[in-house]
Amino acid sequence: MSNTRHSKVLIIGSGPAGYTAAVYSARAMLAPVLVQGLQPGGQLTITTEVENWPGDTQVQGPDLMVRMQDHATAMGAEIISDYITALDLSNRPFVASADSGMTYTADAIILATGAQAKWLGLPSEEKFKGFGVSACATCDGFFYRGKEVVVIGGGNTAVEEALFLTNFASKVTLVHRRDSLRAEKIMQDRLFKNPKVSVLWNHDVVDILGDDNPPGVTAVRVRNVHSGAEQDIPCAGFFVAIGHTPATQLVADQLELHNGGYVKVKAGTTHTSIEGVFAAGDLTDHVYRQAVTSAGMGCMAALDAERFLAEQN
Ligand code: FAD
Ligand code: NAP
Repeated sequence: MSNTRHSKVLIIGSGPAGYTAAVYSARAMLAPVLVQGLQPGGQLTITTEVENWPGDTQVQGPDLMVRMQDHATAMGAEIISDYITALDLSNRPFVASADSGMTYTADAIILATGAQAKWLGLPSEEKFKGFGVSACATCDGFFYRGKEVVVIGGGNTAVEEALFLTNFASKVTLVHRRDSLRAEKIMQDRLFKNPKVSVLWNHDVVDILGDDNPPGVTAVRVRNVHSGAEQDIPCAGFFVAIGHTPATQLVADQLELHNGGYVKVKAGTTHTSIEGVFAAGDLTDHVYRQAVTSAGMGCMAALDAERFLAEQN
């Protein structure tokens, strides 16, 4: 069996952008191939309730993504469980090498690799990852039943994580480096009303303290950003929710980037700096970063790819 697979359109990524691009390009009879990557369904698979997907007052993130995958498959997209390790955009057809040993070639590529969680970069954070330090409350919250936890961040993710953790933890302290949150007001309202949550304003986390044997977190050391005064907050779990960085490893040295590493697209389109390569979703969007905007860009990318291929013919 050949280990090379050619398609007119190769979609890399299986978040809302990738699956929407797959639905549209399948309906355009382009027989797209979509490679899912290590997180099939993308970022929404690590959350619980999504309340801003139009048409669903409330839907579980993982359920929504399964529905999107089923939709793309039903329209005729081929969904492949694989991970792209290298991409050569220097010639057409473009060449994508995958972890499985397969090589995917394509006349057009839609990049939808999304974003990955940011970390603080502390050595102690690295040391206790998986032993009390996490970037996913949905995945790990259950382990902190009846225990105290600390969350750092001030955006929607941090507030959502903090609220979710109140289902398990006895106390949740949200540490934020400023004196106001950037999370949506409705989320802030829920946070401030929750008796299990306390917010520590104007503080950074400077160290994570814990035991070595068995490994486990016992406290986080925080510092007042104005006075420099330090204190330790006892906790068994520490959740980092300080945002995400675009997943541009495959293309960072091939495509034009901007705004700290996001793939640059021509305004109002999904055209990147290489003809035939389109980008959609969180890897190109430093402003909105929502499921619905990512899906919208996935649609645009499929339409842009369709027009590009028609012009080539
Ligand atoms: P992502 O969802 O990031 O998906 C990226 C995909 O690319 C993944 O499938 C990954 O496996 C794949 N990939 C990456 N690298 C490779 C590779 N080398 N090879 C193959 N595949 C690869 N937004 C909302 O609108 N409402 C919400 O309620 C909401 N809640 C959120 C809760 C949390 C905890 C988080 C983290 C985010 C939330 N967001 C929410 C934001 C939303 O999830 C993102 O805006 C959206 O998922 C971005 O979609 P995307 O398709 O661009 O990429
Ligand atoms: P974000 O909006 O970028 O917020 C990151 C937060 O972390 C900010 O409050 C920031 O502080 C703080 N921060 C960043 N670096 C830090 C550091 N080194 N130390 C301490 N704090 C640090 O990221 P996000 O909350 O992950 O949200 C990402 C996108 O997904 C947003 O567009 C958001 O709307 C979307 N999202 C939506 C929902 C929803 O609709 N329900 C849920 C989750 C996410 P400053 O405020 O000082 O910059």
